Amino acid sequence: MTEETVAESQPGLEEILGCLEALLEFPSVSEAYVRFRIDLLKGQRAVREALAAAPASPTAPHGGSAVSPTTSMLGPEDVAFDAGLLRALFEAICAAAAAHGRRSGDLEALGTALKADPDVITGLARAAAFGPDLPHLEALARQYGVAVDAVLFVGRALAAPFVAETVRRITPGTAGPGRGTPLGGHCGICGSPPSVARLRREDGKRLLTCGLCGTEWEFERLACPWCNSQDAAVLTILRADEAEPRWIEACERCRGYVKTVDERRLPVGGVIIPVVEETATLHLDLLAEREGYIRRLPYVLSG
Ligand SMILES: [Zn+2]
Ligand SMILES: [Zn+2]
Repeated sequence: MTEETVAESQPGLEEILGCLEALLEFPSVSEAYVRFRIDLLKGQRAVREALAAAPASPTAPHGGSAVSPTTSMLGPEDVAFDAGLLRALFEAICAAAAAHGRRSGDLEALGTALKADPDVITGLARAAAFGPDLPHLEALARQYGVAVDAVLFVGRALAAPFVAETVRRITPGTAGPGRGTPLGGHCGICGSPPSVARLRREDGKRLLTCGLCGTEWEFERLACPWCNSQDAAVLTILRADEAEPRWIEACERCRGYVKTVDERRLPVGGVIIPVVEETATLHLDLLAEREGYIRRLPYVLSG
């Protein structure tokens, strides 16, 4: 019942892949989307393994001091983005997209840009992960005739394993619930917004998972993680099915939303894996978007 017990064991890659593959049995889930996410996750995990196997390198490549998560938040200069690993991951994303029928014209155009100048891919990862730096991403999109949404997705998918691995190194053995000081509804370690929320089995408290580095933190049950509004009159719930343990919690004020899963309504022993939740609940995103709510950042969690 302790926080540590809940923080627990992080599932391994095989377990996560098994849970993703199990989603293929559900008719509400798109097979192509699940397979794309499986291949993306494998590519991201390969980067994390390469980074973990490398000798400890300073997390601040430009000579700054190591980051302390209790005193400052991770910034773009604290993550050592490696152009070679980024390019390998980009190739994996292109292969996954081509294999599973996702549009690839934007990826081809981006590939041309990334090959032309090695600084472009590190700049893309940095700009997409932190902020995000929309003027930088929009300029790249304009220059190469690519949709800005595609640039943002690729940039964040590229950056996620580097940010997650940096966070793992600066918070050894302690990453998990309660780490960092949340900035409103955003991750107190890397500054990203949450991907999914869970209502903890033990006490019903609401825990948000960072959509970039995977850190989890407790947040007010009745507040919008995007604009911090605590006005119950503007907070609303959207459900695809009353019986489902998953739903959307949305905000009329800022039109943001977060997907929520209630652990208490899952079978005992059921484990919540954020990247699996993200993938399993695409239909909830479609429901929210149909109702005019906004998914501000794509899901890129590297597991
Ligand atoms: Zn984070
Ligand atoms: Zn809001």
